[in-house]
Amino acid sequence: MNFDSVKPDLSDRIAVKTITPTQRSRLHTKSLRLAINAQCYDCIYDKTDVGSWRQQVAACPSANCPLYCQRPKPIKIGEAA
Ligand code: SF4
Repeated sequence: MNFDSVKPDLSDRIAVKTITPTQRSRLHTKSLRLAINAQCYDCIYDKTDVGSWRQQVAACPSANCPLYCQRPKPIKIGEAA
């Protein structure tokens, strides 16, 4: 049996997962959601700190920020990205 024919090609999905929210926003310039994600990512994410960028944004302490209520939240397992 030739397994190459049943093995899915994940290379395009992996590439999408590895780009930053800022890069993703630049690819989809009309998306307000992606623009907010990128803004919060640029604002608070520290790759040397603990947690993913979404976890760090969820823990944002700036309740007075206009984007606070719309900031991205961590994705639960099984939920679409
Ligand atoms: S909600 Fe928090 S992380 Fe997002 S832009 Fe405002 S201050 Fe920055």
